[in-house]
Order: sequence, then C-alpha cells, then structure tokens
Amino acid sequence: MSGDSLYQQLRSNLAYLRLHAAAEALPRALDTAQRQKLSPSAFLKALTDVEVHATAERRRASLERFARLPAPWRIEDFDFDAQPSVDRSMIQELATLRFLEDATNVLFIGPPGVGKTMLAVSLARASIEAGYRTYYTSAADLAARCHRAALEGRWATVMRFFAGPRLLVIDEVGYLPMASEAAAALFQVISQRYLKGSVCLTTNLAVGSWGKTFDDPMAAGAMLDRLLHRSVVFNIDGDSYRLREHRARSERLRSRRNPLDGPRADP
Ligand code: ADP
Ligand code: MG
Repeated sequence: MSGDSLYQQLRSNLAYLRLHAAAEALPRALDTAQRQKLSPSAFLKALTDVEVHATAERRRASLERFARLPAPWRIEDFDFDAQPSVDRSMIQELATLRFLEDATNVLFIGPPGVGKTMLAVSLARASIEAGYRTYYTSAADLAARCHRAALEGRWATVMRFFAGPRLLVIDEVGYLPMASEAAAALFQVISQRYLKGSVCLTTNLAVGSWGKTFDDPMAAGAMLDRLLHRSVVFNIDGDSYRLREHRARSERLRSRRNPLDGPRADP
C-alpha cells in the first residue's frame, strides 16, 4: 500500500471513530514525528493528547452552557479585605470541592450587596472547571419552573432535573415571599438532594426567621433541618459592596473639578 493511501485510510479511520481533532492534527503530528524521530508510542501519545484535550474542552463548554451562571465571577476576584466577615480560609477549603463528596450544603446569609451571589457563583464555576455537573437557579425561577411543570403534568421530570446536578445553586431565597406551593417545590428539591447532592443557597433571611417568612412554618423548619444538618454557614454582614463602589465613584467624581466652573485661578 502506498504511503499516500495508508495516510488516507488512517485519516478516514480517525474520522469514522469520530476522533475529529486527531484527524485534523494528523498531518502536523506525522511531520513532527518524522522530524523529531519520535517512537511509535510517543507519536500515538501526542496524537491522542490532541483528542483528549478537545474532548475535555467540549465537555467543559457543555457543562458551562448547562449551568447558566449569571456572571463570570471567580473566587480570585473576591476582595476578602473588603468583607472581613467572610472566612477566607473556609472559602478556599470549599474551593477544593471536597464538600461535594459528602453532599455538604453551603449557605450564604446576609443583606443585599455583600457578595453572596458572587461567592455562590464562584464556587459553581470551580465546580464546573473540576468537571462536575452544576446548575444555577434563583429561588423564584425554581418555583416558577416547578409551577409550570405541575400544570403540564411534568412534576416528576422537573424533580429529577433538580436532583441531577452535583452542585445546585439556589440564589435569593426569601427575597420574594414564597407562596405555599413555591415553598413546597423548594422543600421537595432540598429533601430529595438531602445527603445526596450539595445545595449552595443564598438568602437574606436569618436562620431564625424562616418559619415566619414561609407560609408553612413546619415545612420551613424541616427544610432548614435538612439544609443545616451537614453544612457550612456564612453569616455575612457589613456594607453593601455595590453601595460602597457607588460611594467611591461619587467621591471620585466630586473630588474632580467641575469643568463648567471655568479655569481655576491659580494662587
Ligand atoms: P448579594 O448577592 O449579596 O446581593 P452580590 O454577590 O450580587 O451581592 O454582589 C453585588 C456586587 O458587588 C457584585 O457586582 C459583586 O461582584 C460585587 N461584590 C460584592 N462583594 C464583593 C467583594 N468582596 N469583592 C469583589 N466584588 C464584590
Ligand atoms: Mg444576590
């Protein structure tokens, strides 16, 4: 068989096996192998590396699309000095993602603007990058989705969906009042993930006030029990980072000379 037709067959084998990245890289890899006098094993290793990287990248991109994170935040972007009530070493420990192994939950509790969503999303990003199926939803979206599913007779399907991800972020619990139907959906999602899959939840509700905020205090209590049983809780206080940035910007603007004032008379 001529070298040319051997090459063509090798290429079509790779394409048939759907190793498209390797097929694409074949001419370059053969060139390199010849130039650097690579052993057959070294050549095969280099060629399969190309496919492995392409597959890993596709998988990461698909996990990323699936997760629907609302922002590209990462833990490195979080300014811990601005938020001393957040235990930096605890966040770094969580970023190792060992908490996913025993389905530990993470709760970020605090007023608006203190970085709860940013921390939850940053952990979710770490989880995606480690290859875990991850999903972000606000509590209101979760409730709306469950409501629609109930109307359309897809309750079991939507429950299976929320049970699936290794890490489920439920953002903004308690921002909007939860009618009993919505609370029941949240309760069921949390119950079926209990000890099986981690929930990272953010809320403005202090733990003690859950009973008052939900229509059904019993369900609220049972939900909290499951969430807290194996959990890491951050009580974040302090100023809103948003307001702080806004204040800093206003200060900067104020300290600049207003150009309409005309030329300044130098002393
Ligand atoms: P919350 O969910 O507690 O209301 P967010 O996480 O949405 O607050 O944070 C509000 C805004 O402030 C976001 O743009 C976020 O990136 C930023 N932010 C909050 N805390 C910090 C921080 N410690 N370091 C950097 N950015 C922060
Ligand atoms: Mg938030």
